[in-house]
Parts: sequence; structure tokens; C-alpha cells
Amino acid sequence: MTTISPADFMAAAPAPLGGNTPWAARYAAELRRVATEHAARAPRSLQLHLGPSELGSPCDRQVAGKMAGLPVTNHVSDPWPSIVGTAVHAWLAEAFTADNVRKGMARWLAEVRVTPHPNHPGTADLYDAVEQSVDDHKVLGETSMQKVRSAEGPPRKYVAQLGLYGLGYLRLGLPVKRIVLIAWPRTKSSLDQLYVWERLFDGELVELLAEVWTDTARRQEQAKALHAGHIQLRDIPATPTSDECFFCPFYRPESSRESSVTGCPGSVNPQ
Ligand code: SF4
Repeated sequence: MTTISPADFMAAAPAPLGGNTPWAARYAAELRRVATEHAARAPRSLQLHLGPSELGSPCDRQVAGKMAGLPVTNHVSDPWPSIVGTAVHAWLAEAFTADNVRKGMARWLAEVRVTPHPNHPGTADLYDAVEQSVDDHKVLGETSMQKVRSAEGPPRKYVAQLGLYGLGYLRLGLPVKRIVLIAWPRTKSSLDQLYVWERLFDGELVELLAEVWTDTARRQEQAKALHAGHIQLRDIPATPTSDECFFCPFYRPESSRESSVTGCPGSVNPQ
């Protein structure tokens, strides 16, 4: 039998919450429960047609698991960054839409439904009719911000997502010259830390999108086999990366030691 060390046990336990009295600390836990449960609500059925934000992941195992609607096994990631991101997106949509009124010009299109592929529609954050650019807001912590600022640029998943939105806008009949990632600082107190990454919507990007469709077709077959119970999650090839694993719904470091624990060991033990 595999034993769990006290350090592992403590690492898996939720962090105690602060309050000026024991009642306040207990109340904090109840408030966190409401936020966490609301953030975790997700479909549990076969959903082969994921949106553009999911399709560019490098990991077959993650995407096929999501398509198969497998239950979340990640107990380490916290929903707060995503809650903040959702709230900031809603605020920014209002801000850019209101700018059209302030300037008397229909420059910005916020939160528009686009269809880069009939089976994979999604909602694009922003289109700039003046620059003919497709823009995506990312609300990033310091580590992710540094990666976007680095020579390597944003992860493939973000570039693919923007490319797919760009394709969606082209299919709406609007010109798309470039894709733009707007990195808003989640953990800083000033907009001085805003950073913009851009690239042209060119042939190289179209090639990347062709790769995404090939990956998607393969992953759909894997998801069908998973959903039917013909294979298990660990039978699907994994591509662990520091960008993906910690936030992956199936990340479960203990599964590298215990066969009874479902999930994927991810970057702890690449397979
Ligand atoms: S934990 Fe990492 S390797 Fe495992 S499925 Fe998720 S992204 Fe892939």
C-alpha cells in the first residue's frame, strides 16, 4: 500500500482562512465554499465541440478528458484567478462599448459570437475596426505575464485561440490584419503594467490553425472511446507543461503513486 507523507497530506488540505474571531474564520470558509462551488459547476456530459479557448492546448489527455466530460480531479488549483478574470472581462466589455458612444464611432465590437468552424463557435472578446485587429483580454498573474513578455511570447494555446477568433471574424466578412493579446496585470496595482503582444494574421498562423483541427479530430475520437469506457484517461498521451498542468481539471499529483486515485500526475511525473 502506498503511504502519504504528512507533508503531502498537509499540502492537499485547504489553507486555513483568516478572521478576527473563530466565528469569522469559519464564516470565511463558508464564503469560499460558495465561490468555489459556483466556479466548479461544469457540464458532465460528452461535449465534443469545445470552444476556441480550449482547442489549442498541447495536451491530448486534457482536451479529450474535457470533451468526454470527465469529473474534475484537480484539488490544488484555486478558482480565484478565473473569477477575477471573468469579472474583469465583463467590465472591459462595458468600457469598450461605452467608448464607441463617447467617441461617436463604432470602433469596438465586444463579446461577439463567432464561428471559426460550425462545430466550434465561441465568443471573441474584442474587435477593433480601426486597426482591423482581433483582441483578447488575458488577466494574468506575474509568472504568466513574464512568459508573455519573454522572447518566446504567449503559449500556443492563446495564439491558437486568437487565430480561431480571427477566422471567425473573417467568416463574418470583416477584415483581420492582426491578432492582439492584451495582458492586464491581475496582481499589480497599476495599469502601467499593461502589456500588448501582437502578430499578423498570416500564412504561418493559418498553418497553426490547420494543426489545431487535426488535433481536434484525433481528440474527439479519444473522447468518444473514453466516454464509452473503452479506454481510461491515463491511456491517452499526455504533454505535461508548466503552463497547463497546475490549472488542468485532471491534474492530481498523487495519481503517480496510487493507481486507485484518478487523474493525471502532470508535470510531476511526465508520461
Ligand atoms: S495534468 Fe498536464 S499532462 Fe495531465 S492531462 Fe492535464 S495538462 Fe495534460
